[in-house]
Amino acid sequence: MKQLVILSGKGGTGKTSITAAFAHLAAKGPLAGKVILADADVDAANLELVLQPTLVEQQDFKGGKVAVIDQETCASCGDCQAVCRFDAINYADGLYVVDPIACDGCAACVYQCPTESISMREQIAGQFYFSESRYGPLYHANLLPGQENSGKLVTLVKQRARLQALDENRELVIVDGPPGIGCPVISAVSGADLALVVAEPTVSGVHDMHRALDTLKHFGVRALVVINKADIFPAGADEIEAFCHQQSIETVGRIPFDLTVASAMVAGEAVTAFQPQAPSSIAIRQVWERVSRLLS
Ligand code: SF4
Ligand code: SF4
Repeated sequence: MKQLVILSGKGGTGKTSITAAFAHLAAKGPLAGKVILADADVDAANLELVLQPTLVEQQDFKGGKVAVIDQETCASCGDCQAVCRFDAINYADGLYVVDPIACDGCAACVYQCPTESISMREQIAGQFYFSESRYGPLYHANLLPGQENSGKLVTLVKQRARLQALDENRELVIVDGPPGIGCPVISAVSGADLALVVAEPTVSGVHDMHRALDTLKHFGVRALVVINKADIFPAGADEIEAFCHQQSIETVGRIPFDLTVASAMVAGEAVTAFQPQAPSSIAIRQVWERVSRLLS
């Protein structure tokens, strides 16, 4: 079983559109019935918007702990507020109250409280989902606003996808990775066999691609690059290809800017299924052929 993760240094590069198209193409080819999908972009999961799956299972995801003050026993001394370095304890209407968004869960206030009125409680940080999509099982999740531990939630999504793949002898897990280079990205690339970085030929796109490639190099994951919207700035696309060539990183194609991609998203369909002969669909199909060959 192999894991392919699709990444980008920043959001909005077309990563999810490409993932959805790969899911469609995999389901129509020799890998039909052998693929599991995972949306590891738990801060802004949107693969389900394109695949429109049927929800099978939903679970609360418990993140870190937050402090809670028992108002019955609190003596209103203010010691907890004084010790809190995160300004997470507010005083209003004669009561000390913890702001759960600001609370870092350090528990310093618990030890400071003279009346043992503060306890640490687990909080629900998000939701985990398992769904069936037209292109295969999909694991996805949604981190609530202001919550941390997105790396843990990504790990849960990937673990469940991997376990099903192993149980059912499936050959490939396709992971729609988060943008950036933070903890969720590190969780998403962990254990991956191949990473496809979706780069845009813009100044910020090239800069963010470098960061994504550096992260993959650091973790020893083989990287490929695809240039999306390549025709909006061909000189930038040339620069990306030259850089990749110099670094011995394979570029697996150029996808043109194509409004069909947006239309397919609005229609809730992978662009390769929505309009197979659209310029973007043709280019993505060629990229998929190269990537799937490299995976096998
Ligand atoms: S647990 Fe830490 S961050 Fe949270 S309220 Fe107490 S002292 Fe502040
Ligand atoms: S330290 Fe304890 S007793 Fe004092 S205000 Fe905070 S919760 Fe109340």
